[in-house]
Formats: sequence, structure tokens, C-alpha cells
Amino acid sequence: MTAKGSSDPVQQMVANALAGFLAAPPPGTPPEVIEALTLAGDGVADPLPPRLFFEAVEQSPVAISITNAQAIILYANAAFEALTGYARAEVIGENESILSSNATPASVYQALWRTIKQKQTWTGTLVNRTKAGGDYLAELAISPVLDQDGAICYFLGIHRDVTRVHELEAALRQQKARVEAVLDAAPVVVVLLDDAGRLLLDNQEYRKLRGELGDREPIDLLRAALRKQAGFDPLEAALAERGFKDVEISLEVAGSGGPRWFACSGKPAHELEPSCRTFFGKEPAGERRLLLLANDITARRREIERAYLENLRARLAEQQLGHTMREALAAAIYQMQGPLNLIQAAAEMLKGGGGDPQVLSGLFQQISASGHKALATLQAALPEQPREAGLMVNINALLRQVLELETDQLLAAGIVVDWQPAHVLPEISGHKDQLRAMFKHLIDNAIQALNESGRTHRELRIATRVVDRSVEVVIQDNGPGIPSAQRYAVFEPFYIGWRHRRGRAGMGLPLTQEIVNQHGGSIEIDPEYHEGCRIRLYLTAVAED
Ligand code: FAD
Repeated sequence: MTAKGSSDPVQQMVANALAGFLAAPPPGTPPEVIEALTLAGDGVADPLPPRLFFEAVEQSPVAISITNAQAIILYANAAFEALTGYARAEVIGENESILSSNATPASVYQALWRTIKQKQTWTGTLVNRTKAGGDYLAELAISPVLDQDGAICYFLGIHRDVTRVHELEAALRQQKARVEAVLDAAPVVVVLLDDAGRLLLDNQEYRKLRGELGDREPIDLLRAALRKQAGFDPLEAALAERGFKDVEISLEVAGSGGPRWFACSGKPAHELEPSCRTFFGKEPAGERRLLLLANDITARRREIERAYLENLRARLAEQQLGHTMREALAAAIYQMQGPLNLIQAAAEMLKGGGGDPQVLSGLFQQISASGHKALATLQAALPEQPREAGLMVNINALLRQVLELETDQLLAAGIVVDWQPAHVLPEISGHKDQLRAMFKHLIDNAIQALNESGRTHRELRIATRVVDRSVEVVIQDNGPGIPSAQRYAVFEPFYIGWRHRRGRAGMGLPLTQEIVNQHGGSIEIDPEYHEGCRIRLYLTAVAED
């Protein structure tokens, strides 16, 4: 099809080329290209006069060029000039390759030419260079225009600058990669759900959990656990604009030696509607989402449970020991009555001035026999010292444990504890249970001293620090103190200086001394301290035995 005659050959050529193109758009021509040129040509059915046709193309906002069959430019419109920076006089007669930046692979050009030579429209993207030397991305559609014999007479090129779009897409991809890297590095499970509960985004930890759960989807299990154990559905909460934080739930995971615990937090993360209608911010929020985080706290939970059990076990063992000892002592006291009665009888006999030596000898034998029996009962009740392997021990941690165990007693006695641990303490090799029992005994002593002092202000100071290569522990109370004459006697077996002797055997400090010695250390009652009692002990390492 050709346009009606015009006196200007260029106008006529442009009109002919467009009319020819619009009459039979080649296969592969994008509808928007046809639409753009149809507007210029005002439709195929009723073509404009060539001058008006030309004017419309001339003022089109997209860059339009028309070449001969060898890509030699015959016409370029104003938008082409604006985009490329070339005046049309500079490009007419030149190959379109004048726009090439040499950054487009040859294979792209080969495909381009193969397509247009087959009389089809080619669409694609090339890296072009403006006259000023700036590169830009050109989104291009090249369509052949055929003459009446079906031979290619023109190529129609339409292109626009899509550099900004590409830059935005690249920035978006980079941003996405960054977000994904951060999410994957996060040591918590992170998922984003849409309002139907579909997974939109997850991270490495989530995928790891999925691997551990076999074929079960972790998000389904987490939601079910929150519903059952915390009484709400996280998605419903988020859709109702309610967030939640650190809700602890457990999941049974086969082969992980007990339940896995997670602290779950959720946040409504609604997305903005991307359409231009939201430009003035008046449109309601777009898609509604839930951002769910699940922090695996299994190790912490297990540690708490283990410490609780250990504490319970220690208390039970202590109770049991106390019970056994009481029973044994009661039995021994009962058995001691026998020899005491016999001694009494023998004494009466001797006092009377007589006493058959044979009867007396029989009496003494009975005394000896029943005395040994009582002794045997006591010996049998003596608890065996458990043999404990030497471990690396943190004295601060041990003292903290003992203080926790003693909390009730300290509170009941109204004692203020001043706990001053060294910030960093080297671990020493030692026997945990022995050391724990030793510290407990020293703190029990301080409590008893403060109770016996009758003071209103009662203070217990416990401090640790590193001295040379030893750990120094100071246990100090503001009770009655130990007179200097007794500073060494208190470490002798069976010495008891308490006013209330009940439950005391005078063996605590001798045993303490033994334990300290075994740990290559020393213990002393500080002679310089006169406001109470200050015990200073040093521990280095456990002696190999
Ligand atoms: P060239 O040697 O020109 O071509 C590279 C390869 O293309 C050749 O190896 C060959 O396979 C094929 N080829 C080139 N010319 C022909 C031909 N006449 N017949 C068959 N195969 C051929 N290029 C751009 O870089 N930017 C543009 O904006 C641009 N717009 C165009 C618009 C139109 C309407 C047309 C028809 C072409 C356009 N071209 C454009 C393509 C341009 O003509 C060049 O082919 C291209 O720039 C490569 O140029 P070159 O000198 O690097 O290599």
C-alpha cells in the first residue's frame, strides 16, 4: 500500500513506508508498535495525507528511523535526534551501526539480521552509544516493509531508552540478593507468608529445618504448635494487626533427642499496592503479610532443665544423707545406752568397796562388746567419699550455684550478700562436688556466725580474683569472728566453738582444709580482719592421685 502523492519525496517515502508497514505488519511485530504507528497514521483504513502522516511521525515521542534494505538511514525523526544526539543531517546516508557501542555481542546482530531478512519483526535490546559517547540500552523493534513484489524496500526502526529501567531492575536484583544474604546469615528461621498462608520467602535456617523434618513443611508445624500451645494462629493475629514476641513452643522432631524449642515472633508486614493509585498515599494498604521469626532455643531450654535436675538431685542426695545419718546416730545413741548402764553398774560395785573381780571382768567384757557394736553401727553409717574425676572447674560458676542453693537460708537470716566475682577467672582442674560442698560449708558457717551474732545488719561478702596462678576466694562475714587464739584450733578435728552445737561435729573446717590441700591450695583465717571473720583460700590444681 502506498500513501497518496506528496510533493516532498521524504514525506512521501515516510508515508509510503508507514502505510506499507501498517497494511501488513510483519509477524512478530509487538502490538504497541502497531498502536504507536496507527495513532500516527490514524489507522490503516483511512490513511492521512502524506504531510499530516509525516508530521505525526515527526512528532512521535519514540525514536523512529527508516532505512533502506542495507540499514542505511533514509529518515530519522526528532525523538531519534534527541535520544542519539545526532542531527538527522549527520546520520542520513549512514548505517545504523553508527549507533553501535561495540558492547552488543555479534550473535545478537546475527539473530537480528536473520529475523528481518526472513521478513519478520525483530525485537530486542542493544547497547547503543550517543554522539556524545554515552552508552544507553536501546529497546528496539525493526520491521521490514515490503514492496508490491514482496521484496524488502525499507526497514522501520523504533527504539526507546530503557537504561533507567535496567538500572532499577539491576538495583532491585542487588537489593534482593543483599536481603537474601542477610536472611540466610541470620541464625533464626525467617518466613514471609501471604494472607492465604502461602510461603513467599524463606531463609537458609528454614530450609535446614525442612530437611530435618523430612517431608513436613515447618511453617505448618509452627502454626499448629502456636495454635495448640499458645492458643492463637499467627497468621490470623497478623491479619488482625496483632504482632507477638518470643512465644515459646515445642516441636517433636524425630531423632533430635527430645523436643525442639522455638521462641516465635510475628509482625504484620503489609505491602504497599505498587500501582500509581497509591502515589498520594490515600489508597488502603495492599497485600497483607506475616513475617514470622522462630529462634531455636532448644539448647538453652535443655541447659535450664539440666541445671534444674542437677539441683534437684543434689538436694535429694543431701536430704537422703541427712536422713540416713539421723537414723544411724539414733541407733548408735540407743546402743550406747547399754555400755553406759554397765559402766554405771561397775562403778556402783567398785564404790561399794567390793565387787567380785570375775563379775567385774564379765561386766567389762560386756561393756567392750556393746561399745564395739555401737561403734560398728556408726562406722557403717559413715558415707563413703565418692570418687570424682578431676575436671576443669570455674570457681565463679560453682560459687554462684552454691549461693543459689543457699538463697532461702540467706533470706531467712536477713543477710545481705555482696558477690564480687572476678570478671575473668581461669578454670582450675578440680573436683566439682568436693569444692561445692566445701563452699557450702563455709557459707553455712558464715550464716550460723551471723545468726549467733544477733547483729541487725548482717553482711556476707564473697569475692574471687586471680593471684599469681591461683584463684583466691574470700568469704567474709561481719559476725562475731574467730579469736586469734583459735585461728588454728578451728582446723583441728572435733573442735566446736559454736554456741549452738546441734548438728555440728567439728569436722567441717578440717575437711575443708583437706579439700584445699588436695587442690594444691591453702586456707587461712585472716588475722588482719577484726570486724568479723574473713576466710581466704587459694586454689591452684588438683593433685593427681
Ligand atoms: P556489521 O558488520 O554491520 O554486522 C554484524 C553482523 O550483522 C554481521 O556479521 C552479519 O551477520 C549481520 N549483518 C549486518 N549487516 C547485514 C546485512 N545487510 N545483511 C545480512 N546480515 C547483516 N545497530 C545498533 O547497534 N544500534 C541500533 O540502534 C541499530 N538500529 C538499527 C535499525 C535498523 C532499521 C536496522 C535495519 C539495523 C539497525 N542496527 C542497529 C543494526 C546495524 O545496521 C548493524 O548491523 C549493527 O550495528 C552492527 O554493526 P557492525 O558494524 O558492528 O557489524
